[in-house]
Amino acid sequence: MKKLMIFFAGAVCATSVMAGLYGDTPTDKHAWAVHDMNRPNPKKISAEPGVPPSDAIVLFDGTQESFEKNWCNDKGGPTKWKFVNGTLESVARAGNICSRQTFGDVQLHVEWQPPVKVSGSGQGRGNSGVFLLGGMYEVQVLDSWETDPDNMKNPNYADGQAGAVYGQNPPLVNPTRKPGEWQVYDIVFHQPIFDGDKLVHPGSLTVFLNGVLVQDHWELEGPTLHCRRTSQSKPKGTKGSIQFQDHGNPVHFRNVWVRELPSRYANTTHGKFLAKDADVMALRKEIAAKLFAKIDLNNPRKHDVIAQIFEVFAYDKDEKYVAAMKRVCEPWLKEISAWDKETAVQHKGELFHVRNAANVLHRNKVIDDNCTVRNGVNAVIKKYDLK
Ligand code: MG
Repeated sequence: MKKLMIFFAGAVCATSVMAGLYGDTPTDKHAWAVHDMNRPNPKKISAEPGVPPSDAIVLFDGTQESFEKNWCNDKGGPTKWKFVNGTLESVARAGNICSRQTFGDVQLHVEWQPPVKVSGSGQGRGNSGVFLLGGMYEVQVLDSWETDPDNMKNPNYADGQAGAVYGQNPPLVNPTRKPGEWQVYDIVFHQPIFDGDKLVHPGSLTVFLNGVLVQDHWELEGPTLHCRRTSQSKPKGTKGSIQFQDHGNPVHFRNVWVRELPSRYANTTHGKFLAKDADVMALRKEIAAKLFAKIDLNNPRKHDVIAQIFEVFAYDKDEKYVAAMKRVCEPWLKEISAWDKETAVQHKGELFHVRNAANVLHRNKVIDDNCTVRNGVNAVIKKYDLK
């Protein structure tokens, strides 16, 4: 952004509209100031204990209706999985059960239950899995009750136990409960991001098992496979079903809900990853125009008007805003420079607002040392030693 012209480079802080200049101002990479009151607040949702958040898509709520409506086999036809006592039960050789709706980045909640009596060993003990993006990535489901190094009754490979990103990363700890008890997954999945064929980010999995963090933003090496290392070699689609694995063991699932997440790369106007100067500036200009349209340039409280225009400057210093500032600040500066001490004391709050707001702008190099308004205000404050 170009530097302000000397004469118009001061600022006055009005109590309401200048809150946007309370913190550091917008930059080439940030459309918003720090603590910016003009920045939209997030949508309010409800999140009560024991029920899905109000913006969640409930895929299975324990009813046959939600089972039949939301789930299918991998061909889109009826699944052979069973609806049993308000749960989904895997059936050997039925194949994975798949959500009819497809998803990209998600927060996923699902509860699962290994058989009460687990037969078999290793990967045969209540094996299933939670798959993201149409079967690409598996968070392992398995009885892992006795795989602790100090109580190894059930030897297993670490990258294949419950909480593992299968074949890639073991869970940080093993917080599983006994066979037959319900286990809870809360999963945050971000898919790989490609720019054309170029990989920008490999995607990630964050997993809480029974409320305990077991995968801490694990960056995916590639699709999860048995025995094989993989890589994120090329784009494979941005949406896919959520699936639960048929691995031949009777595992139950319940309380399945999902929240669709915006891509972390979707916001190109505030700092992170793919911030684009052009997008940032376009939004800044839009904000500036909206703010300027609300200003009554004939308001006799000139310090308020100056403050409002300077808030606009923080986003955009278009010549029309500069011209408006000139019209307002010239008579105001003339007025305050003529104040006697009593008047200055009486209006010192207005002066301090100007000084403080100017300092924010000056600190952020929106205005420079030659700012006439800042210098004029400081001259009056210094002249009468106002505190
Ligand atoms: Mg599995």
